Amino acid sequence: MKLPERAAVIDASAIAHNVRTIAEYVRPAKVLAAVKADGYGHGLMTAAQAALRGGADWLGVAHIAEALQLRAEGIEAPLLAWLHTQDTDFAAGIEAHIDLGVSGWDLDPIAEAANVLHEPARVHLKVDTGLGRNGATMADWPELVRRAADFKNRGLISVEGIFTHMAVADEPDRRETDEQLEAFHEALAIAERHGIVPDLRHVANTPAALSRPDAHFDMVRVGVGVYGHSPFADRTGASLGLRPAMELRTTVANVKTVPAGQGISYGLTHRVEAPTKLGLIPLGYADGIPRIAVGAPVLIRGRRYCSAGRVAMDQFVVDLGDDSDVEVGDEVVVFGGESGIEAAEWGTAAGTINYEIVTRIGARVPRVVV
Ligand code: PLP
Repeated sequence: MKLPERAAVIDASAIAHNVRTIAEYVRPAKVLAAVKADGYGHGLMTAAQAALRGGADWLGVAHIAEALQLRAEGIEAPLLAWLHTQDTDFAAGIEAHIDLGVSGWDLDPIAEAANVLHEPARVHLKVDTGLGRNGATMADWPELVRRAADFKNRGLISVEGIFTHMAVADEPDRRETDEQLEAFHEALAIAERHGIVPDLRHVANTPAALSRPDAHFDMVRVGVGVYGHSPFADRTGASLGLRPAMELRTTVANVKTVPAGQGISYGLTHRVEAPTKLGLIPLGYADGIPRIAVGAPVLIRGRRYCSAGRVAMDQFVVDLGDDSDVEVGDEVVVFGGESGIEAAEWGTAAGTINYEIVTRIGARVPRVVV
């Protein structure tokens, strides 16, 4: 297949494979595949359909608007949306049979919308066991549960789940994960005392799904692993049995020889020590390649070369060495596919993580689904 000059090649079978692999790790727990943020940059529908093919039981998104898009495209699988603002259209979510995460203030408008629609809202109560982000604090949890029990008794909501989110599961030795799990058990006991015993207790993100069986409960909510990436700094995706679902590729746009001392790119932050060839790669920070990613690898003709100097808006430079046979038009893999280069290597070069590398690949880079 002739690819566009820049392409993020999305391997849908890798997504299905990764879901299957994770499902094996967590059996008998169910799998919710997180497809928020345009399927972590892979395409919302591509990710959703492939994850369901791989056996995902649920799909998860941050915003109801993302879930509505899935429904509009014909996805009938259970959907959970967990991040709302006061302008969120809860009624649209309830009508579309989208389960709603509830953290506190949002319970009232959700129950109100259910009242108007004469249809109970399906909710998952969220407790903050330590991440300090969304969800009711442990101090506020008994009150949230009490209000939820009240709305439940009035037929305005059904509590389908209780959940929390992990803060440091990607660092398996940290004790805070144990503390979060203890707090979660306490939150479940409090809910039970109010007659709330939902079918779905869910805690684990990818790192907890892969390293903490005691966090599996009834369902795991996994994202980065679905796309083939390791959440652990010291493990590759391949070593976990995962396959990268995005391959970022292009072709060499220019090759030239420069003398020793030549500065490269804005700020001239890098100078070559000896005469060398430079290859120009037509991807830049407008495409999601971080400006500060220096020394990150690409694969050309089966060899790795490193980025040199600052990444510009549309392009960056790699140092090819003085004896290189690389030519204009040669294929370049930035990460993924069979290259052996993981998005995490670009993350490390840019002081960030693989999650951010793949989700930020920009709209100017066409997704080509294979
Ligand atoms: N659950 C929630 C609430 C999330 O926000 C996310 C993503 O950040 C996930 C699950 C999936 O996390 P991961 O990509 O680490 O598996």
